[in-house]
Amino acid sequence: MSSFEYYAPETMSELLDILSANQENSKILAGGTDVTVHLREGKIAPQCVIALKKVSDLKGISLQGTNIVIGPMTTFTELVESPIIRENAWLLAQAAVSVGSPQIRNQGTVGGNIANASPAGDSLPALMALDAVLKIISKRGEREMPLENFYLGISKNKLEKDEIVAGISFPVLEKGTGSAFVKLGRRNALAISRISAAAIIGYDHAENLITSCRISVGSVAQNPFRVRSAEQMMLSCPLNADNRNKCITAAFEEMAATLGKRASAVYKRKAGPEIVRRALDEAIRMAGGSWEAVI
Ligand SMILES: Cc1cc2nc3c(=O)[nH]c(=O)nc-3n(C[C@H](O)[C@H](O)[C@H](O)COP(=O)(O)OP(=O)(O)OC[C@H]3O[C@@H](n4cnc5c(N)ncnc54)[C@H](O)[C@@H]3O)c2cc1C
Repeated sequence: MSSFEYYAPETMSELLDILSANQENSKILAGGTDVTVHLREGKIAPQCVIALKKVSDLKGISLQGTNIVIGPMTTFTELVESPIIRENAWLLAQAAVSVGSPQIRNQGTVGGNIANASPAGDSLPALMALDAVLKIISKRGEREMPLENFYLGISKNKLEKDEIVAGISFPVLEKGTGSAFVKLGRRNALAISRISAAAIIGYDHAENLITSCRISVGSVAQNPFRVRSAEQMMLSCPLNADNRNKCITAAFEEMAATLGKRASAVYKRKAGPEIVRRALDEAIRMAGGSWEAVI
Protein backbone atom coordinates (compact mmCIF):
# COMPACT_ATOMS: atom_id res chain seq x y z
CA MET A 1 0.00 0.00 0.00
CA SER A 2 1.50 3.37 -0.98
CA SER A 3 1.56 6.22 1.55
CA PHE A 4 -0.94 9.06 1.56
CA GLU A 5 -1.90 12.13 3.54
CA TYR A 6 -4.82 11.56 5.90
CA TYR A 7 -7.42 14.18 6.80
CA ALA A 8 -10.33 13.82 9.25
CA PRO A 9 -12.20 17.14 9.13
CA GLU A 10 -14.76 17.89 11.83
CA THR A 11 -17.04 20.29 9.99
CA MET A 12 -18.70 20.36 6.61
CA SER A 13 -16.92 23.53 5.49
CA GLU A 14 -13.54 22.14 6.50
CA LEU A 15 -14.34 18.95 4.58
CA LEU A 16 -15.36 20.81 1.43
CA ASP A 17 -12.24 23.01 1.60
CA ILE A 18 -9.96 19.98 1.85
CA LEU A 19 -11.81 18.20 -0.94
CA SER A 20 -11.68 21.25 -3.17
CA ALA A 21 -7.95 21.71 -2.59
CA ASN A 22 -7.12 18.03 -3.19
CA GLN A 23 -9.48 17.02 -5.95
CA GLU A 24 -6.89 15.58 -8.31
CA ASN A 25 -5.90 12.47 -6.38
CA SER A 26 -7.95 12.13 -3.23
CA LYS A 27 -10.23 9.41 -1.91
CA ILE A 28 -13.21 9.84 0.39
CA LEU A 29 -13.26 7.33 3.26
CA ALA A 30 -16.60 6.48 4.90
CA GLY A 31 -16.75 3.11 6.71
CA GLY A 32 -13.82 1.87 4.62
CA THR A 33 -15.19 -1.61 3.87
CA ASP A 34 -14.64 -1.07 0.15
CA VAL A 35 -11.86 1.55 0.25
CA THR A 36 -9.49 -0.39 2.54
CA VAL A 37 -9.83 -3.50 0.35
CA HIS A 38 -9.05 -1.42 -2.77
CA LEU A 39 -6.07 0.26 -1.06
CA ARG A 40 -4.68 -3.04 0.16
CA GLU A 41 -5.06 -4.64 -3.28
CA GLY A 42 -3.39 -1.64 -4.92
CA LYS A 43 -6.49 -0.91 -7.05
CA ILE A 44 -6.28 2.69 -5.88
CA ALA A 45 -3.27 4.75 -4.76
CA PRO A 46 -4.56 8.18 -3.67
CA GLN A 47 -2.19 10.90 -2.47
CA CYS A 48 -4.77 11.99 0.07
CA VAL A 49 -7.51 10.17 2.02
CA ILE A 50 -10.34 12.26 3.47
CA ALA A 51 -12.32 10.56 6.27
CA LEU A 52 -15.95 11.58 6.82
CA LYS A 53 -16.35 9.98 10.25
CA LYS A 54 -16.03 13.17 12.35
CA VAL A 55 -18.49 15.28 10.36
CA SER A 56 -21.66 15.05 12.45
CA ASP A 57 -23.83 16.67 9.71
CA LEU A 58 -23.39 13.49 7.65
CA LYS A 59 -24.94 11.20 10.26
CA GLY A 60 -28.45 10.34 11.38
CA ILE A 61 -31.94 9.42 10.23
CA SER A 62 -34.80 11.88 10.60
CA LEU A 63 -38.42 12.34 9.61
CA GLN A 64 -38.84 15.78 8.02
CA GLY A 65 -42.50 16.34 7.18
CA THR A 66 -43.43 13.48 4.86
CA ASN A 67 -39.81 12.78 3.92
CA ILE A 68 -37.20 10.55 5.50
CA VAL A 69 -33.72 12.07 5.41
CA ILE A 70 -30.67 9.87 5.93
CA GLY A 71 -27.08 11.01 6.41
CA PRO A 72 -24.65 9.14 4.15
CA MET A 73 -22.56 8.05 7.16
CA THR A 74 -25.50 6.04 8.51
CA THR A 75 -24.43 2.41 8.88
CA PHE A 76 -26.47 -0.59 7.78
CA THR A 77 -26.92 -1.55 11.45
CA GLU A 78 -28.35 1.90 12.17
CA LEU A 79 -30.79 1.50 9.25
CA VAL A 80 -31.89 -1.93 10.50
CA GLU A 81 -32.41 -0.66 14.04
CA SER A 82 -34.14 2.61 13.14
CA PRO A 83 -37.87 2.73 14.05
CA ILE A 84 -38.28 5.42 11.37
CA ILE A 85 -37.00 3.07 8.68
CA ARG A 86 -38.75 -0.03 10.00
CA GLU A 87 -42.11 1.74 10.19
CA ASN A 88 -41.95 3.78 6.99
CA ALA A 89 -39.57 2.03 4.59
CA TRP A 90 -39.48 -1.62 5.59
CA LEU A 91 -37.74 -2.81 2.41
CA LEU A 92 -34.69 -0.64 3.22
CA ALA A 93 -34.34 -2.35 6.62
CA GLN A 94 -34.57 -5.68 4.81
CA ALA A 95 -31.90 -4.63 2.32
CA ALA A 96 -29.63 -3.39 5.12
CA VAL A 97 -29.92 -6.59 7.16
CA SER A 98 -29.03 -8.65 4.08
CA VAL A 99 -25.61 -6.97 3.81
CA GLY A 100 -22.50 -9.08 4.51
CA SER A 101 -21.93 -9.84 8.17
CA PRO A 102 -22.52 -7.99 11.48
CA GLN A 103 -19.04 -6.43 11.19
CA ILE A 104 -19.71 -5.12 7.67
CA ARG A 105 -23.16 -3.84 8.71
CA ASN A 106 -21.61 -2.03 11.72
CA GLN A 107 -18.91 -0.42 9.62
CA GLY A 108 -20.36 -0.04 6.09
CA THR A 109 -22.45 3.04 5.33
CA VAL A 110 -25.32 3.73 3.00
CA GLY A 111 -23.40 6.62 1.41
CA GLY A 112 -20.48 4.30 0.69
CA ASN A 113 -22.85 1.75 -0.81
CA ILE A 114 -24.35 4.42 -3.08
CA ALA A 115 -21.06 6.01 -4.17
CA ASN A 116 -19.33 2.67 -4.70
CA ALA A 117 -21.72 2.03 -7.62
CA SER A 118 -21.57 -1.75 -7.49
CA PRO A 119 -24.22 -3.63 -9.50
CA ALA A 120 -24.72 -5.66 -6.29
CA GLY A 121 -25.03 -2.78 -3.79
CA ASP A 122 -27.93 -3.99 -1.65
CA SER A 123 -29.35 -0.65 -0.59
CA LEU A 124 -29.64 0.56 -4.19
CA PRO A 125 -32.71 -1.36 -5.48
CA ALA A 126 -34.55 -0.52 -2.25
CA LEU A 127 -33.64 3.18 -2.44
CA MET A 128 -34.49 3.34 -6.14
CA ALA A 129 -37.92 1.84 -5.49
CA LEU A 130 -38.37 4.46 -2.76
CA ASP A 131 -37.66 7.23 -5.33
CA ALA A 132 -34.63 8.34 -3.32
CA VAL A 133 -33.03 11.68 -4.17
CA LEU A 134 -29.39 12.47 -3.36
CA LYS A 135 -28.16 15.76 -2.00
CA ILE A 136 -24.75 16.37 -3.57
CA ILE A 137 -22.46 19.05 -2.14
CA SER A 138 -19.18 20.70 -3.04
CA LYS A 139 -17.56 24.01 -2.15
CA ARG A 140 -19.17 25.33 -5.37
CA GLY A 141 -22.70 24.63 -4.16
CA GLU A 142 -25.41 22.04 -3.81
CA ARG A 143 -27.53 20.03 -6.23
CA GLU A 144 -30.08 17.22 -6.07
CA MET A 145 -30.23 14.12 -8.23
CA PRO A 146 -32.60 11.14 -8.23
CA LEU A 147 -30.60 8.01 -7.35
CA GLU A 148 -31.97 6.43 -10.51
CA ASN A 149 -30.01 8.99 -12.59
CA PHE A 150 -26.80 8.80 -10.57
CA TYR A 151 -24.97 5.96 -12.30
CA LEU A 152 -22.78 5.65 -15.37
CA GLY A 153 -21.79 1.97 -15.17
CA ILE A 154 -19.89 -0.35 -12.80
CA SER A 155 -18.04 1.73 -10.18
CA LYS A 156 -18.98 4.93 -12.02
CA ASN A 157 -21.26 7.66 -10.78
CA LYS A 158 -21.92 11.28 -11.67
CA LEU A 159 -20.05 12.90 -8.76
CA GLU A 160 -17.49 15.51 -9.75
CA LYS A 161 -14.07 15.22 -8.09
CA ASP A 162 -14.89 17.86 -5.47
CA GLU A 163 -18.38 16.55 -4.62
CA ILE A 164 -19.74 14.23 -1.97
CA VAL A 165 -23.12 12.64 -1.32
CA ALA A 166 -24.33 14.62 1.69
CA GLY A 167 -27.85 13.27 2.13
CA ILE A 168 -30.44 10.80 0.88
CA SER A 169 -34.17 11.52 1.08
CA PHE A 170 -37.41 9.88 0.00
CA PRO A 171 -41.12 10.10 0.86
CA VAL A 172 -42.45 7.84 3.62
CA LEU A 173 -44.54 4.96 2.32
CA GLU A 174 -48.27 5.55 2.63
CA LYS A 175 -50.33 3.42 4.98
CA GLY A 176 -51.60 0.30 3.23
CA THR A 177 -48.46 0.08 1.11
CA GLY A 178 -46.44 -3.13 1.23
CA SER A 179 -42.74 -3.39 0.46
CA ALA A 180 -40.09 -6.06 0.18
CA PHE A 181 -36.44 -6.57 -0.73
CA VAL A 182 -35.35 -10.07 -1.74
CA LYS A 183 -31.81 -11.16 -2.55
CA LEU A 184 -30.31 -14.37 -3.83
CA GLY A 185 -26.65 -14.83 -2.92
CA ARG A 186 -24.23 -17.71 -3.14
CA ARG A 187 -24.26 -18.31 0.61
CA ASN A 188 -26.44 -17.18 3.48
CA ALA A 189 -23.82 -15.03 5.22
CA LEU A 190 -21.34 -12.68 3.57
CA ALA A 191 -23.07 -13.20 0.26
CA ILE A 192 -22.74 -10.52 -2.37
CA SER A 193 -26.03 -10.46 -4.25
CA ARG A 194 -26.21 -12.54 -7.42
CA ILE A 195 -29.59 -11.04 -8.13
CA SER A 196 -32.01 -8.94 -6.10
CA ALA A 197 -35.37 -7.23 -6.39
CA ALA A 198 -37.25 -4.58 -4.44
CA ALA A 199 -40.99 -3.99 -4.72
CA ILE A 200 -43.41 -1.43 -3.29
CA ILE A 201 -47.12 -1.96 -3.84
CA GLY A 202 -50.14 0.09 -2.86
CA TYR A 203 -53.41 -1.82 -2.69
CA ASP A 204 -57.01 -0.57 -2.42
CA HIS A 205 -58.87 -3.26 -0.49
CA ALA A 206 -62.35 -1.92 -1.16
CA GLU A 207 -61.85 -1.88 -4.93
CA ASN A 208 -59.33 -4.79 -5.06
CA LEU A 209 -57.05 -2.58 -7.19
CA ILE A 210 -53.31 -2.03 -7.32
CA THR A 211 -52.91 1.72 -6.78
CA SER A 212 -49.14 2.02 -7.00
CA CYS A 213 -46.30 -0.25 -8.04
CA ARG A 214 -42.54 0.29 -8.02
CA ILE A 215 -40.06 -2.48 -8.78
CA SER A 216 -36.29 -2.37 -9.13
CA VAL A 217 -33.67 -5.03 -9.67
CA GLY A 218 -29.99 -5.39 -8.77
CA SER A 219 -27.04 -7.47 -10.06
CA VAL A 220 -28.71 -7.75 -13.45
CA ALA A 221 -27.08 -4.92 -15.40
CA GLN A 222 -24.11 -2.62 -14.70
CA ASN A 223 -26.25 -0.72 -12.19
CA PRO A 224 -29.58 -1.46 -10.50
CA PHE A 225 -32.62 -0.10 -12.35
CA ARG A 226 -36.42 0.27 -12.22
CA VAL A 227 -38.48 -2.04 -14.46
CA ARG A 228 -40.85 0.67 -15.60
CA SER A 229 -43.02 -1.21 -18.08
CA ALA A 230 -43.76 -3.89 -15.48
CA GLU A 231 -44.70 -1.17 -12.98
CA GLN A 232 -46.98 0.54 -15.50
CA MET A 233 -48.88 -2.59 -16.42
CA MET A 234 -49.80 -3.24 -12.78
CA LEU A 235 -51.31 0.21 -12.17
CA SER A 236 -55.08 0.25 -11.62
CA CYS A 237 -55.22 -3.53 -12.23
CA PRO A 238 -57.26 -5.88 -10.07
CA LEU A 239 -55.11 -8.03 -7.77
CA ASN A 240 -55.18 -11.46 -9.35
CA ALA A 241 -52.81 -14.17 -10.50
CA ASP A 242 -53.07 -13.25 -14.15
CA ASN A 243 -51.98 -9.64 -13.60
CA ARG A 244 -49.20 -10.63 -11.25
CA ASN A 245 -47.84 -13.09 -13.82
CA LYS A 246 -48.05 -10.50 -16.62
CA CYS A 247 -46.08 -8.12 -14.41
CA ILE A 248 -43.38 -10.74 -13.76
CA THR A 249 -43.12 -11.43 -17.50
CA ALA A 250 -42.82 -7.72 -18.30
CA ALA A 251 -40.16 -7.29 -15.60
CA PHE A 252 -38.24 -10.26 -16.92
CA GLU A 253 -38.29 -8.92 -20.49
CA GLU A 254 -36.70 -5.69 -19.26
CA MET A 255 -34.10 -7.63 -17.27
CA ALA A 256 -33.33 -10.08 -20.10
CA ALA A 257 -32.60 -7.17 -22.45
CA THR A 258 -29.60 -6.22 -20.27
CA LEU A 259 -28.23 -9.68 -19.47
CA GLY A 260 -26.23 -10.32 -22.64
CA LYS A 261 -24.16 -13.49 -23.01
CA ARG A 262 -22.01 -13.50 -19.89
CA ALA A 263 -21.72 -16.79 -17.97
CA SER A 264 -24.10 -15.78 -15.19
CA ALA A 265 -26.85 -14.90 -17.68
CA VAL A 266 -28.13 -18.48 -17.82
CA TYR A 267 -28.65 -18.53 -14.05
CA LYS A 268 -30.11 -15.03 -14.01
CA ARG A 269 -32.64 -15.82 -16.76
CA LYS A 270 -34.02 -18.53 -14.46
CA ALA A 271 -33.66 -16.63 -11.19
CA GLY A 272 -34.94 -13.27 -12.51
CA PRO A 273 -38.67 -14.06 -12.69
CA GLU A 274 -38.50 -15.95 -9.38
CA ILE A 275 -36.86 -13.09 -7.47
CA VAL A 276 -39.41 -10.59 -8.81
CA ARG A 277 -42.23 -12.97 -7.92
CA ARG A 278 -40.97 -13.30 -4.34
CA ALA A 279 -40.62 -9.53 -3.93
CA LEU A 280 -44.07 -8.87 -5.38
CA ASP A 281 -45.72 -11.58 -3.30
CA GLU A 282 -44.13 -10.39 -0.08
CA ALA A 283 -45.06 -6.77 -0.81
CA ILE A 284 -48.65 -7.70 -1.70
CA ARG A 285 -48.95 -9.77 1.46
CA MET A 286 -47.62 -6.87 3.54
CA ALA A 287 -50.13 -4.53 1.89
CA GLY A 288 -52.86 -6.86 3.16
CA GLY A 289 -53.72 -8.19 -0.28
CA SER A 290 -55.43 -11.54 -0.59
CA TRP A 291 -52.57 -13.94 -1.01
CA GLU A 292 -54.87 -16.80 -2.01
CA ALA A 293 -56.41 -14.65 -4.71
CA VAL A 294 -52.94 -14.09 -6.16
CA ILE A 295 -51.91 -17.74 -6.24
C1 LIG B 1 -16.65 -8.98 3.31
C2 LIG B 1 -17.52 -7.96 2.61
C3 LIG B 1 -18.86 -8.25 2.41
C4 LIG B 1 -19.69 -7.32 1.78
N1 LIG B 1 -21.01 -7.63 1.59
C5 LIG B 1 -21.80 -6.74 0.99
C6 LIG B 1 -23.18 -7.04 0.80
O1 LIG B 1 -23.69 -8.09 1.17
N2 LIG B 1 -23.96 -6.10 0.17
C7 LIG B 1 -23.44 -4.91 -0.24
O2 LIG B 1 -24.19 -4.09 -0.79
N3 LIG B 1 -22.14 -4.61 -0.07
C8 LIG B 1 -21.31 -5.49 0.53
N4 LIG B 1 -19.99 -5.19 0.70
C9 LIG B 1 -19.46 -3.93 0.16
C10 LIG B 1 -19.41 -2.75 1.16
O3 LIG B 1 -19.46 -3.17 2.49
C11 LIG B 1 -20.56 -1.75 0.91
O4 LIG B 1 -20.49 -1.27 -0.41
C12 LIG B 1 -20.56 -0.58 1.89
O5 LIG B 1 -21.80 0.06 1.83
C13 LIG B 1 -19.49 0.46 1.60
O6 LIG B 1 -19.65 1.48 2.57
P1 LIG B 1 -18.39 2.08 3.32
O7 LIG B 1 -18.92 3.09 4.26
O8 LIG B 1 -17.55 1.03 3.90
O9 LIG B 1 -17.68 2.79 2.08
P2 LIG B 1 -16.15 3.08 1.81
O10 LIG B 1 -15.42 1.83 1.58
O11 LIG B 1 -15.59 4.02 2.80
O12 LIG B 1 -16.33 3.88 0.42
C14 LIG B 1 -16.87 3.23 -0.73
C15 LIG B 1 -16.79 4.19 -1.92
O13 LIG B 1 -17.69 5.27 -1.76
C16 LIG B 1 -17.01 6.54 -1.70
N5 LIG B 1 -17.76 7.30 -0.69
C17 LIG B 1 -18.14 6.88 0.53
N6 LIG B 1 -18.96 7.77 1.10
C18 LIG B 1 -19.13 8.77 0.20
C19 LIG B 1 -19.88 10.00 0.21
N7 LIG B 1 -20.69 10.35 1.24
N8 LIG B 1 -19.82 10.81 -0.88
C20 LIG B 1 -19.05 10.46 -1.94
N9 LIG B 1 -18.32 9.31 -2.01
C21 LIG B 1 -18.36 8.48 -0.94
C22 LIG B 1 -15.56 6.19 -1.34
O14 LIG B 1 -14.65 7.16 -1.81
C23 LIG B 1 -15.41 4.87 -2.08
O15 LIG B 1 -15.19 5.09 -3.45
C24 LIG B 1 -19.14 -6.09 1.34
C25 LIG B 1 -17.79 -5.79 1.56
C26 LIG B 1 -16.98 -6.71 2.19
C27 LIG B 1 -15.52 -6.37 2.43
